[in-house]
Amino acid sequence: MNATETLAEARRLMTVCNSCRYCEGLCAVFPAMEERRFFNDGDLNYLANLCHACGACYVDCQFAPPHEFNVNVPAVLAKTRAESYAAYAWPRALAPLFARNGLAISLIAAASVAVFVLGFVAASAPSAMWSSRQGPGAFYEVMPHNAMAGLFGAVFVYAVFAMAMGVRAFWRDIGEPAATFAEPKSLWRAMREAGGLRYLDGGGAGCHIGDDRPKDRRRLFHHLTFYGFLLCFASTSVATFYHYAGYEAPYPLYDLPVVLGIVGGLGLTIGTAGLYFAKRNIDPTLLDQAPSGMDTAFVAMLFLVGASGLLLTALRETPAMGIILSSHLGFVFALFLSMPYSKMVHGLYRVLALTRYAKEMRVSENG
Ligand code: SF4
Ligand code: SF4
Repeated sequence: MNATETLAEARRLMTVCNSCRYCEGLCAVFPAMEERRFFNDGDLNYLANLCHACGACYVDCQFAPPHEFNVNVPAVLAKTRAESYAAYAWPRALAPLFARNGLAISLIAAASVAVFVLGFVAASAPSAMWSSRQGPGAFYEVMPHNAMAGLFGAVFVYAVFAMAMGVRAFWRDIGEPAATFAEPKSLWRAMREAGGLRYLDGGGAGCHIGDDRPKDRRRLFHHLTFYGFLLCFASTSVATFYHYAGYEAPYPLYDLPVVLGIVGGLGLTIGTAGLYFAKRNIDPTLLDQAPSGMDTAFVAMLFLVGASGLLLTALRETPAMGIILSSHLGFVFALFLSMPYSKMVHGLYRVLALTRYAKEMRVSENG
């Protein structure tokens, strides 16, 4: 199925569902669908990005295969959603990275780690790279702080800009005015629902994995991953503040950047490992039938960032510090560089879709 055929199939399903409406209490997709009689491409991309792929509407559907209507909303919206990421990619020339995303992200990660490890080995004195270092400034003997800050600052700015262009493209495609961003009630409701994964609960029973026994594990692991990532980001931010206040890394185990990093790293590694195994247990019928490896690449990248960070904390006073630090920085750099072309963008488009949904529901509720 190409992108046009996927949208045509999503349109057909939403038309069937709009006549049936049996699933209207399950998630945000169905109430948003009921606000419309016709579905343009932007509407379908909006609905697809509201869907969390919990599977509940497939398990409940009387028109699911082998019925001739062949209604499989989770699989078709998953494919629509994946294709929307490529449609909004900036620059357009890099949109094909989404087609074979697992391979693309693996190559970016491997190249990044190789460049960092070889670069460290070539640029550092052997005494700094291969011997144990302790005390303030130990990390910067293998990579000067200014080089680290310049490199990571540049790739972070690029990633934020590319993702902002994607946000702009999504907002235009769904036909939402910029003024919606000035509605605090809609924004607050969207942040609350996104932060709590409000619609990954299968209508209250939990996430389905393809049988009749809903389970909620994916929601738990997603929370661990998301909040673990935020804690790691907070750890880096506090460490940056410390550095410019004259207090250099590495910090004692009880200090705030290390505590945040350990808790965040544990959340990232446990959460992503859990997401990986939860996904393996999902009935393939519920998934995009032409997988690109995007989900696996995404959780693998976050797992490697978290695991290498924890390993660095554990072995930072040993001769292995140089090689672990270079590998960790390689993974983090690859994560930043690939963010606009990875599953990371799903969080942005979901919050935006939920913002529009919150606005639509407020208008609907107020008559
Ligand atoms: S998924 Fe099936 S049961 Fe649910 S609204 Fe659509 S057609 Fe009806
Ligand atoms: S899979 Fe879950 S989130 Fe997606 S449309 Fe169906 S019930 Fe809603």
